[in-house]
Amino acid sequence: MTYETVIGLEIHTELSTKTKAFCACEYKFGGEVNTQCCPGCAGMPGALPVLNKRVVDYAMKMGLACGCKINKTSAFDRKNYFYPDLPGGYQVTQNFTPICEGGGVEFFHAGEKRTARLTRIHIEEDTAKLLHGDAFDGTLIDFNRAGVPLIEIVTEPDFRSGEEVKDFLESLRTLLLTLDICNCKMQEGAIRCDINVSVRPAGQAEYGTRVEMKNVNTFSGAILAIEYEASRQIEIINGGGQIFQETRRWDEQREESVLMRSKENAADYRYFPEANLVQLVVSDDWIAEISAEMPELPIPKLERYKSLGVPAAESHMLIEQVSKARFFEAAVAAGANPKNAAVWTMGHITARLNKVGMAISDAPVTPADLAAVLEMIAAKKISIDSGKLVIDEVFDTRARLAGNGHRGQESEAAHSLEAGRAETADSAEVADSIETVGEIVERLSLAQVSDEGEIKKLVAEILAANEKSVEDYKNGKKNAFAFLVGQCMKASKGKANPQVVNELIREALG
Ligand code: ADP
Ligand code: MG
Ligand code: ZN
Repeated sequence: MTYETVIGLEIHTELSTKTKAFCACEYKFGGEVNTQCCPGCAGMPGALPVLNKRVVDYAMKMGLACGCKINKTSAFDRKNYFYPDLPGGYQVTQNFTPICEGGGVEFFHAGEKRTARLTRIHIEEDTAKLLHGDAFDGTLIDFNRAGVPLIEIVTEPDFRSGEEVKDFLESLRTLLLTLDICNCKMQEGAIRCDINVSVRPAGQAEYGTRVEMKNVNTFSGAILAIEYEASRQIEIINGGGQIFQETRRWDEQREESVLMRSKENAADYRYFPEANLVQLVVSDDWIAEISAEMPELPIPKLERYKSLGVPAAESHMLIEQVSKARFFEAAVAAGANPKNAAVWTMGHITARLNKVGMAISDAPVTPADLAAVLEMIAAKKISIDSGKLVIDEVFDTRARLAGNGHRGQESEAAHSLEAGRAETADSAEVADSIETVGEIVERLSLAQVSDEGEIKKLVAEILAANEKSVEDYKNGKKNAFAFLVGQCMKASKGKANPQVVNELIREALG
């Protein structure tokens, strides 16, 4: 019997608002324990919640990007359960009416575009963090995270494999980054996934009983967890057993899931309306305002890049790396050919950045520099290798400038689209000391000789000096040709345009 795996996801996404969902506490990951909390988020009796408007903005942004229906009236509810990470004894969430319903997220799997349908997106608050360690007895509680806003994105059971889920999650991350509503730092728990898995005999219409796995914190962990859980279920069924609906915890170290509890249902949570918060009403104007701020979404962007002639591999990398996409777009705006701009941004420039662990937003090279280099290559003024050398030189010399205390201004100047022609007096001074791409080409004498007359003379000299090779070539020794080209390049100190040299030698040899 073959089985099909069915998977649905509940994705908790931490919103990167400045303050928490229902109080004015600011939150930054990694702060000293219990320094980012107040009576409100610590669950003291009598402290009343006030909804943060930005949380609603962000949730609607996501909803609109996914084509969800935005409920103009939604409400908050209390999900009651007793656990030490929940100071109030309940979590404020949206159970009965979420802010967004329906819609879907597009993603690519095995080279094919798919859509995962969304059930809903709702707003809720995060819990405190429990700390266990060898340095102390028992469990300590850090309330910094309590009350941090989350959106929970619930999908329909539309996935059939771990790989598909991973591809979806990658697309979702790209979308969240593009919308700028979550920092997506997995290692900080900014995206946490509950994965529902069931299996059914191939061809059967009804779904099997699902098991929910909590605590999946990496995309690769999701694949392992799904594969593990599906084979566990299949083994039980094949052994004549039965699957019970339950909640299991994924243990990343041991790569196995362990039973947490038998599945609770809604009744266990005694959901009821949160009477301390009024209904959430959003106007058409508010929705229109958020729509107007919507950036270009990843899939349309991907399609646009492809239509510009950017190769598929680079297009995909660019939409996943928002700041590199910005750099690429600026280079194109500065006149660069899109295909070359993409290949160089993701190729030579990225390699340079990786070498020193630098983000592209801090790179000394500007989009206009890249456009200038590509322009010189296209005009055959410099070779491709010299182009790479120029980029390297920009990195080296401007990094040195930065080392002299000019870093802040210099990088700003370097990033103005006008190739470092900055506007303020201060940075203009710095910009003056920045060597342009043209100046670097000159200083390093990289300009290529393409002048046919000059190269023709060179070719004649080399052929005259290497009669033996000319003979060999005419007798069918093809290697001799490359040797002659090499001799010309050497004699020109690498500056002759190799294409022109090739053509003229071929011409001379008949
Ligand atoms: P709960 O809050 O109890 O987990 P939800 O309805 O919020 O329930 O979440 C249900 C999740 O489980 C959704 O992501 C849905 O796609 C998924 N799901 C439902 N039925 C199945 C099934 N038979 N197999 C796999 N996933 C399922
Ligand atoms: Mg669930
Ligand atoms: Zn607070």
